[in-house]
Amino acid sequence: MKGSFPIQKFENIKTPFYYYNTALLRRTLDCIRAEIGNNSDYHLHYAVKANANPKVLNIISQAGFGADCVSGGEIQAAIDAGFHPSEIVFAGVGKSDWEINLALDHNIGQFNVESIPELEVINLLAGAKGKKARVAFRINPNVGAHTHANITTGLSENKFGIAMEDMEAVITLAQNMTNVEFTGLHFHIGSQILEMGDFVALCNRINELQERLERHHISVASINVGGGLGIDYEHPEEEPVPNFKDYFNTYRKHLRLRPGQQLHFELGRAVVGQCGSLITRVLYVKKATYKQFAIVDAGMTDLIRPALYQATHAIENLSSNEPEETYDVVGPICESSDVFAKAYDLNKCSRGHFLALRSAGAYGEIMASHYNCRELPRGYVTEDFAE
Ligand SMILES: *Cc1c(COP(=O)(O)O)cnc(C)c1O
Repeated sequence: MKGSFPIQKFENIKTPFYYYNTALLRRTLDCIRAEIGNNSDYHLHYAVKANANPKVLNIISQAGFGADCVSGGEIQAAIDAGFHPSEIVFAGVGKSDWEINLALDHNIGQFNVESIPELEVINLLAGAKGKKARVAFRINPNVGAHTHANITTGLSENKFGIAMEDMEAVITLAQNMTNVEFTGLHFHIGSQILEMGDFVALCNRINELQERLERHHISVASINVGGGLGIDYEHPEEEPVPNFKDYFNTYRKHLRLRPGQQLHFELGRAVVGQCGSLITRVLYVKKATYKQFAIVDAGMTDLIRPALYQATHAIENLSSNEPEETYDVVGPICESSDVFAKAYDLNKCSRGHFLALRSAGAYGEIMASHYNCRELPRGYVTEDFAE
């Protein structure tokens, strides 16, 4: 046992695989609960796209959270895991008819609508079922976030949401439709955001938009601020539960809610990121002229974040306490971007050692692919290794 990893129990399991520390997941969920406190106007919808492992989803649904889905498949996964349909919100720029119909059949809580053509289709499909769909509009607030360019979503140049200048027009359009009910506004500015100032900027923008709507006598039942809170990838052990206190206090302090207005959050990464690790074995240590490689059996097909957005994950050698040496940690995939870390210090590696790529609970297992005809990695939770 090194750290909190039951490595002797890993011996008979095929690598690579994901390992989820469910005690940490539960601690994280408890912390969110405690920060939301007894404020029944605050609602958390876990963003399923971060990790849809059924065991992980189950724990989150049992903790009483709702779900934020971006596809029909996610809606189905959320319902299968026990999330109550009325606590499901459905976002996405390109919802297919079957996905909208699935959401309508389950009477989900709310559609987060991203365009007028989409609104028209939802109105039509709801009409065919004799239903009224609750819709919020995702507004593009043109607020930047200090994060990687590929994961900012709230700038005018991004494909997401409806332009601010069109806000009153789309709301009026919805209010005149028979089969939709306008419920509120939705925002999401990006992911892996660690500067609270970015969320303050979003609050200021929402305050401004609300005042504009009030001048048009449009009232808004709910505000959904999306997710985006980041985690500490460099030091997974230092603060394994993200700073939810600062996060929720930022909204408490800067967002001016109207009496009775409901506030919805859609956190993904911050909920599951630190509880997962990708466990892989060293296949070969290869010495080159100026460096050495630790070639592992996990690759970008199992964890694509480093290749996709130059993300870094802390790595630990779970099988060795020998003095550290410096390695490039690389996978077996036939792509030069299949590199987990360069010039990384690890306890001396030998064939067969287990390495843990930490903080891989979010956008890890769920993004795995079959490229190179590889099998998808399996996901195990702490309880799978109980005596
Ligand atoms: C991805 C996404 C989230 C979750 O983002 P995190 O950074 O994982 O918290 C929330 N809402 C929407 C609409 C999303 O697309």
